[in-house]
Amino acid sequence: MSKVYQKPTKFQTKLFINGKFVDGALKKTIPVINPATEELICEIAEATEQDVELAIDAAEASFPIWSKLPQRDRTEYLLKLASLLEANKEEFIALESLDNGKPLEGATFDINDVIGHLRYYAGWADKITGKSFSSLDQQIFYTRREPYGVVGLISPWNFPLMMAEWKYAPALAAGNCIVLKPSEVTPLTVLRLCELVNEAGFPPGVFNVVPGYGHVAGVAITHSKRISKISFTGSSFVGRKILEASSQTNLKKVVLELGGKSPVVVFPDADLDKAAEVAWYGCMFNMGQSCDAGTRLFVHEDVYDKLLQKLKEYEQNVVIGDSFEVQNSNHGPLVSKLQFDRVMSYITHAKEVEKLQCFMGGERWGNKGYFIKPTIFINVDDNSKLAREEIFGPVLVVLKPWKTFDEVIKRANDTNYGLAAYAVTQNAGNVEKFVREVKAGSFYINQGALSAHQMPFGGYKESGFGKDNGEEGLLEYTQLKSVYYSL
Ligand code: NAD
Repeated sequence: MSKVYQKPTKFQTKLFINGKFVDGALKKTIPVINPATEELICEIAEATEQDVELAIDAAEASFPIWSKLPQRDRTEYLLKLASLLEANKEEFIALESLDNGKPLEGATFDINDVIGHLRYYAGWADKITGKSFSSLDQQIFYTRREPYGVVGLISPWNFPLMMAEWKYAPALAAGNCIVLKPSEVTPLTVLRLCELVNEAGFPPGVFNVVPGYGHVAGVAITHSKRISKISFTGSSFVGRKILEASSQTNLKKVVLELGGKSPVVVFPDADLDKAAEVAWYGCMFNMGQSCDAGTRLFVHEDVYDKLLQKLKEYEQNVVIGDSFEVQNSNHGPLVSKLQFDRVMSYITHAKEVEKLQCFMGGERWGNKGYFIKPTIFINVDDNSKLAREEIFGPVLVVLKPWKTFDEVIKRANDTNYGLAAYAVTQNAGNVEKFVREVKAGSFYINQGALSAHQMPFGGYKESGFGKDNGEEGLLEYTQLKSVYYSL
């Protein structure tokens, strides 16, 4: 019997600056739309440049306090926040599902990840170390890690609370104060979280949230000379703008977690049930709106037809619908009209311009909400627009079958992106060569994508640089001093 969730009716809609909920300076608002019904959920306050400045003022003022706390105190604040989130978990699951459209099952996965991840980084606050080096008598050489000060965090809409938390937890653990801009499309869970930040007793100004449009609040953050570090997750298009802003202002350090077009390679020796599972969820999880989705499926010619038949079985288990209306829905709407139109334009292009063979789906579901059926195109040429561009929707592209290992490695690498790569095989030698030769940041072998807190996550090539998660994700929020000390 699955759990019954109440549809949320109360929302935090204000900016969170210096520990207070405030209207934006210009009193503008942004509508938040329920993607399952196309109805207005609420209007939130829009942060503009003046508000971002106030948030930076608050963060700057709090930095000397927060950064000088005994590290163990920072641990305790983060643990308290995690416990409060856990105590309110069901509310957050429902709110994330409503705002983003993801099924309750997916939202449950997200919120559990956030709670565990917060605890993981809470534990890191007192484990940031420098090194000392052997040197001459009367001399000490050592390194020291320090926080940056005020860091700017900009997050996307696909995993709203999770992508924000992947950044603020390590940033705060390392002693920085934050100005966070969640996506204007899905701001509600981060705004509700701010209430818990106050409940947890964080000093005012440590944690500031300025929901607003990218070209307004986002630009204000990336152009501020008072911010010396930005961590961004989003599209490669905006990633380039953030680098430009850095180069035009104070050369702020930047972490970019960007898009992907990840290959899934099925070998002739693969367990085909496993391969079908990896291929299906690798792409369809979160309605294809995952940066590390396996969207290019390369199947060996010996098992091509058999695997396609197995994918058909998955189609039969899809339950589409609004999680608050359809029990056990496992396929929700896309996040917004913009994203729906974008994905539909790829499907139309595939059918009308490239005349690709549509194996399943290929159309909208229902006449209300931004639902698109799980869609698969087969026998696709490597040069197809659908095989080259990030679609960010439930559209799997099955490329023409492969024959030799060297050929498929070359084809898998034939992309500007390099976020993740998947392989399904029972041969360890295949795995070794695959991991060595494919250019990507994360590898999922005989399994779907996973994010263990301790495992660094980040891309090769145009999928970005820098890491979230693990010790490497923490160190992104520190800068290093080298000290030569004669006694
Ligand atoms: P997006 O790039 O449109 O927006 C991301 C964030 O940047 C939003 O908060 C947006 O308001 C802000 N923004 C937009 N223009 C800006 C500007 N000029 N200056 C500063 N900020 C600006 O991305 P999206 O549509 O929200 O998310 C989908 C994209 O995110 C996909 O490309 C996906 O692959 C990527 N993504 C990557 C990862 C990863 O870890 N590599 C994870 C999730 C999503």
